[in-house]
Amino acid sequence: MAPIIGITTYPRDDRGRFTLPAEYVTAVQRAGGVPVLIPPAPEHASRYLDLVDGVVLAGGGDIAPQHYRGNVHELNYGVDADRDALEIALAHELMRRRQPTLAICRGLQVLNVAQGGTLIEHLPAVVGDRIAHRKPPRDPVPHPIAIEPASRLAAVLGVTDLQPMSWHHQAIRDVAPGFNVVARAPDGTIEAVELPNQPWLLAVQWHPELTAQQDPAQQRLFDALVAATKHQGAK
Ligand code: MN
Repeated sequence: MAPIIGITTYPRDDRGRFTLPAEYVTAVQRAGGVPVLIPPAPEHASRYLDLVDGVVLAGGGDIAPQHYRGNVHELNYGVDADRDALEIALAHELMRRRQPTLAICRGLQVLNVAQGGTLIEHLPAVVGDRIAHRKPPRDPVPHPIAIEPASRLAAVLGVTDLQPMSWHHQAIRDVAPGFNVVARAPDGTIEAVELPNQPWLLAVQWHPELTAQQDPAQQRLFDALVAATKHQGAK
């Protein structure tokens, strides 16, 4: 049976809709997974995970700084209490259950915060503007990323030098205990982490879904997530 992959959605927008860029869904479908969208309903994190074989923690707005002892920045955007609560609860429960997980952009930041790491509230204030991690005001832009050759991530991607689409305002400051940094941008920004004590958990700061249709390396992240759920005995 085709594995069921839960994908977290954006919070309720100003017109009262829950949305998700379709590229996440189509990347999971190309990988042979059955996508199921998970809207922010924080009290049911555990029940959602009963229903799915693997999870994509999707991109989105900033995490409220109270979750990592950070400071409010005037350029924080898209903060949503319900989404923070759901995804932090999912992060704890995913790791407890050892469920295969691909964390993308905000998803990487959620995992890091949930495990005790911190974030840079406004990335250009720390690394400058030599590398654009998003195109003003809020659009994707490619930049180079170097992957640690000995990492699980490199094994999945099949390459160690990438130029994927970047679209983030924040980034990891302090890495949570147990996480390995396995990719960086030329300005030093942490672009991927993995957890060696989890069977299959990869977290990337870039957006593989945006180029997965034409870039086999990016699609392989979704393919490997779906394959990992089969190894764990998909429902
Ligand atoms: Mn970046």
